[in-house]
Order: sequence, then structure tokens, then C-alpha cells
Amino acid sequence: MGDAARAEVVCTYHLEGKPLMKVASITWQDKIERAEFLSSQNNAAGGVLRFYVKILQFQQEVQTRLSATSDDVLQLVPIVPEFLDLLAHAGTPRMKEMVVAATELDWSTELNSYWSERANQEYTRLSFIALTMLQPFARLLADNAPNTERLINPRCPYCGCKPQLGVLRPEGDGGKRFLLCSLCGTEWEYRRVICPNCEESDKEKLPVFKSEEAAYIKLAACDTCHTYLKCIDLSINGHAIPEIDDVASLPISLWMVDKGFQPTHFNLFGF
Ligand SMILES: [Zn+2]
Ligand SMILES: [Zn+2]
Repeated sequence: MGDAARAEVVCTYHLEGKPLMKVASITWQDKIERAEFLSSQNNAAGGVLRFYVKILQFQQEVQTRLSATSDDVLQLVPIVPEFLDLLAHAGTPRMKEMVVAATELDWSTELNSYWSERANQEYTRLSFIALTMLQPFARLLADNAPNTERLINPRCPYCGCKPQLGVLRPEGDGGKRFLLCSLCGTEWEYRRVICPNCEESDKEKLPVFKSEEAAYIKLAACDTCHTYLKCIDLSINGHAIPEIDDVASLPISLWMVDKGFQPTHFNLFGF
């Protein structure tokens, strides 16, 4: 994404001087381009990112085939076999095994149950398929939902899921932290010094780790519940697209798990 496009995102965000609840300006195409760029940077996550490009292209296509006004999850069902085909050709050997099992399932039931229990889902073998299908569906619904006032809540104000990432945006002399929903892509403002998992607010119990390789990635950990939230600081790197840079920084996620912290919520790939 060029600087002009990025500036437009920021302007949209500050429309009428009032922070909006969501940022819908980052398109699938922006994400694809960022993933292609990062995969070419000789990154330890290069293989995952090249695969992610194919997933994002598929999700982009799915979204064009959905009705913007229907919240019926069953419209995804006829598209599932196409995704299983993609995985059978481009997936890892483990994914190919998963496809064999997934072909036998009733996806009306699977998608309905994942959607209705989305707020408390654990990451399972089939989550990758369910999430790939449901993300464009949820994002389309969230994009078309009316903006609501800021809520001080660690759960997505639109769909109720836990946040996958924090996003730090420059504002005045400091910065504000937003949480990014793992499913529908909604962003909402949330205080900086508080754990979004257990709401611990004692600064002494909330260490922040930084990566030497990528200064714009900060890890907000919590000694009380042993989780961490990866935060993408856009005041340091304005070109970052949080969900993509999250996957590109897989080694940092593994490093945090080694230190004894689990992510607040899993991403599409389960880390
Ligand atoms: Zn959401
Ligand atoms: Zn906590």
C-alpha cells in the first residue's frame, strides 16, 4: 500500500474528530500485497505467508459472492468444497489429511455451530477451514453494521469474539490502543495498561516485551493470567497491516510461548 492510500485510512478513521469503532478501509487486496511483500523479505515465515496469499485471495473471492444484507451462514456451504479443493492442492500434508476428514462432514451443521459458539471457540483441527470461510462473512456483516459508540470492553462489540491483536495508533503526543477482532476484523478502542484477557490493571504485573528485529511489534504480557497480546505499533511502521504482520512474525509468537505466555486469542493459523 502506498503512502497516499495509508493517509486515506487515517483520515477515514478520524472522521468528524470522533474515533470510529471500526476500520473497514483495509481491503483484501491490501492484505494480499502486504503478505506478498513480506514473503519476499527472506522471512522465517516466508512459506506460511506464500500459502496465506492463496487463502486471502480465496477469502477475497468468497466475499464477492456473499450477500451484504444476509446473516445466513448457510450461503457459505456451497463454497466449502472449492476451499477443500484448494487445500488438497496447496496445503501441507497435514492439511491434506484434514481435507479427507472434512469432506465427510455436514458443513451446514459445522458452520452453524462454529458461528453460534464463536465467542468461546477453542482452536481445533477444523478451525482453519471454519475461520477461512467465516472471516469474509463476518467482515461483510461488520462492515455494513452501523457504527456504535466506543465501548470499554475486551470483547468485540460486534461479534463478541476475543481480540487477536492490539493496534497502536499515533494520536496527539502519545498513542491509543485498539483491539482487533479475530473473526470480523472490527477494531475498538481499549485502554493501554490493562490485560484484555483477565482485566488485570496493575502495571507491575503487565510486562511489555519488545523484539529486537521488529521494533514495531510489542508484546503486552500479563503475569496474572499468563497470556500476551501482540501489538502492532503503526506509529513506528505505518506500512504494517496487523493481521499479515502477525503471521510474518511467527518466531516472536513462538518466543512468547517459550516464555510461558499463551496468545489472548489464536489467529487463523492457530498461533
Ligand atoms: Zn468481531
Ligand atoms: Zn491477564
